[in-house]
Amino acid sequence: MSITKKSKQAVSVFSPEFETHFQAVRRESKPILSVKAFLATEQRFPGIGNGVLQDILFEAGIPPKRKVGTFTEAEWDRLLHTTGSVLRKMWEKGGRDTEKDLFGSPGGYRTKLSKITYRSGCPVCGGPITKEAYLGGSVYYCPVCQPN
Ligand SMILES: [Zn+2]
Repeated sequence: MSITKKSKQAVSVFSPEFETHFQAVRRESKPILSVKAFLATEQRFPGIGNGVLQDILFEAGIPPKRKVGTFTEAEWDRLLHTTGSVLRKMWEKGGRDTEKDLFGSPGGYRTKLSKITYRSGCPVCGGPITKEAYLGGSVYYCPVCQPN
């Protein structure tokens, strides 16, 4: 059983082993894998789905189709830490405002990039947000703040 498979059930982003898991998945990933595929497909990272992904990549300054083989060490580092910090913020605020809980109430985390917000432009530079269908879900990104 590979490290990735073994960790699938257990390692959450809040656990101390998350960084080890992240680095193991990184080593097992082909350089041509896009960052969306890396983070949000095949359950490599439990809890990271398409919706959550948009804000992680926005804060990391990386566009969803970037191949992981092109990352610098600094970008890997930023991706690892942003993944943790964005998910922690969402958890602390009771989820994203684009999702409803069991009682029908939206979460308190204000999603930066989603189907609701993308028309109002980039929250940082004010430029237009690109929306594309990619790997089974819409991706949203700012081509200026998340350059290729
Ligand atoms: Zn921007």
